[in-house]
Amino acid sequence: MRPGGAADPSWQGGAWGERAHAVLCPNPSPMTLEGTNTWVLLEPGSAEAVVVDPGPMHEAHLAAVLDHVAQRDARVVMTLLTHGHADHAESADRWARLTGAPVRRYGGGHDDLEDGERLVVGGLELLVVPTPGHTADSLSFLLPAEQVLLTGDTVLGRGATVVAYPDGDLTSYLESLERLRTLTGAGTATSIAPGHGPVVPDAAGVVEHYWRHRHERLDQVREAVARVRAEDDAGPGDLADRVVGTVYADTPRAVWPAARLSVLAQLDYLGELDD
Ligand SMILES: [Zn+2]
Repeated sequence: MRPGGAADPSWQGGAWGERAHAVLCPNPSPMTLEGTNTWVLLEPGSAEAVVVDPGPMHEAHLAAVLDHVAQRDARVVMTLLTHGHADHAESADRWARLTGAPVRRYGGGHDDLEDGERLVVGGLELLVVPTPGHTADSLSFLLPAEQVLLTGDTVLGRGATVVAYPDGDLTSYLESLERLRTLTGAGTATSIAPGHGPVVPDAAGVVEHYWRHRHERLDQVREAVARVRAEDDAGPGDLADRVVGTVYADTPRAVWPAARLSVLAQLDYLGELDD
């Protein structure tokens, strides 16, 4: 999910490279852009598909994903979750029953995916890249054969992501961006297949943009805090509201609750929630 911005009607899902295909869930909103991208990964010639993020509980969408896989004479043998937010993972149990395939994630406490774990399914290779920050359980997946990184909500097709405080954490998020910067800077990943919005063909550029944006926002929050503090002695809750009103003044009010979570994450990072 992300704050602000209108849906891009030109993004309707579709293929990226030879191995990845997004089936777009019809759940558009200010927080989900055009909807959730359910990624189907399939090695050419293989009959064993991996699905990343089956999405919210939406039977027609699940049927569309199954149909997509069946049309390729394949079946789902593994499902991965980028994180536990409902728009990505709510249907996971239902999906497991429909496919009979295991659902793997981080933070489930059982059969958790591990840092650097290599998954090979029907000749398709994936590497697990932990990227906490948006949430504590956020993972990205590298598909080396396509040099594409599946980022869930850590990096989106457009706009900025929400650091969903208190589960999300800005220190972790900045470290994750640093990790993605290394991967994209070295050319290990050249494009990004996000959880929402269109594929990003310039992975290094968008990660750099996210990095700059995050630091600009931090500066804005720092300044807003100084102004509020100069006026009176606001408590933490009130402080967050007033910072949102200043820093996100030009953002639609519908996304202020999400922006507030990001502001709380930033106030926490700046040590402003300690007193
Ligand atoms: Zn999310």
